[in-house]
Amino acid sequence: MLVLLSKSATDAERDRIVQTVHDLGFSVQVRQAGEHTVIETGAGSEACRCEVERLAGVERVFAGETAAHYATRDHRQEPTQIQVGDTLIGGAGTCIIAGPCAVEGLDVLVEIAHAAKAAGAQMLRGGAYKPRTSPYAFRGLGVEGLEMLAEARRQTGLPIVTEVMDTRDVDAVERHADVLQIGSRSMDNFALLAEVGRTRKPVLLKRGMSATVEELLTSAEYVLAGGNDQVIFCERGIRTFERGTRNTLDISAVPMLRERSHLPVIVDPSHAAGRARFVAPLARAAAACGADGLIIETHVRPAEARSDAAQAVLPEELASIVRDVRAINAALAAPVAGSDGAPSAEPPAASRQPEPVA
Ligand code: PEP
Ligand code: MN
Repeated sequence: MLVLLSKSATDAERDRIVQTVHDLGFSVQVRQAGEHTVIETGAGSEACRCEVERLAGVERVFAGETAAHYATRDHRQEPTQIQVGDTLIGGAGTCIIAGPCAVEGLDVLVEIAHAAKAAGAQMLRGGAYKPRTSPYAFRGLGVEGLEMLAEARRQTGLPIVTEVMDTRDVDAVERHADVLQIGSRSMDNFALLAEVGRTRKPVLLKRGMSATVEELLTSAEYVLAGGNDQVIFCERGIRTFERGTRNTLDISAVPMLRERSHLPVIVDPSHAAGRARFVAPLARAAAACGADGLIIETHVRPAEARSDAAQAVLPEELASIVRDVRAINAALAAPVAGSDGAPSAEPPAASRQPEPVA
């Protein structure tokens, strides 16, 4: 059994919990986990759980179930909104993040940033550190790429979303970026999650390609336990037997995450599709499903892209996606007409808050 103490728990409260568990005949270990004190008991019983749950200083008791708390609606009912520059993620409408897969050079990055902004993007994406399957592939420009992103932000005003892959690069990425992206392949890099948990920049946490939604929640918990409460989930497709797309967009992860968690959820249709022509329909599905944002790989000359060329959309395709998404946002926000033609009191499905999780 794990007993998570609240951040404000006093030493006296901690000692009382330890004594109670001990008196019930179970062994006790006290540990520090990020900002929290955790009391681990050798075993436990339902009676022990009931007794401990009532004590002052206890935030949550876990007995076998997934140890996520701060990421869940048990901790916070209202949706968390995250402000990045002028954009509120988790507010009304779908936030649009667009840009190249990788930062390839200053001129092309600035050209893409201006075009993405004109198409309706609210943030610029682009990797300076690229996770590549082959060590011989282009792996990004590193710090030089971060500086190019900062320059593109200066010229366009668009906040920057960029990936950090290594604990050693967290400081540099934190200095340059507005949102730190944890890529799919890093969702289980617990040292990296703990390190970005120490920063105070929003974290865009991408779902691992073989990870369950519960596992994504516990990865977010690592960041939150470190004291960084700004996590944005990203569904980017999972690996299935289907070979027609690069990954299978698990659209059901959006309502699942919204039900389990108060944190915003965005969708990456680009890495799910792997092909530019599937990006628009998947983006529309995500918006209709209630996603708080979209992250879309965009390039002014896709054929020249140094990574993920096949899935990059043109700025004009991005503009068309943004138009569709805004129409979907408006349709979902509009009052629903009842059978008598009068607006229904029932809010649209996407804006209804899920029931609290038992
Ligand atoms: C990316 O966003 O460029 C990326 C590498 O995505 P993922 O981690 O989802 O594969
Ligand atoms: Mn990519």
